[in-house]
Amino acid sequence: MLPNRCSIKQGGRQCPNPPEFIISITSDDGGEYMLGVTCSRHRRDVREEVQRLQDGGKVARGTIGFTSVKSVGTDCIRADPDELVQIDGQGGWERAPDGQR
Ligand SMILES: [Zn+2]
Repeated sequence: MLPNRCSIKQGGRQCPNPPEFIISITSDDGGEYMLGVTCSRHRRDVREEVQRLQDGGKVARGTIGFTSVKSVGTDCIRADPDELVQIDGQGGWERAPDGQR
């Protein structure tokens, strides 16, 4: 079961967007670890955050991967997810300044 919202929390607020990508690490020894989910807007933040966690030894080292949520459990063939961003109508979410997390 996947979470129904993006895993990112910034400034104490949970991101309200629906998840669009599953974040995983494929470690150098072949293991695969699912870390959470993210919306397309936070995808780059997540990559930076995961790299920081890897540098700190908190999560396995390896390749950070993003798998489209919609490609899981359906037979749909999707276009490039980057062409399907539809979160503009959500509104209300602003990134907190860095240092407030
Ligand atoms: Zn998000």
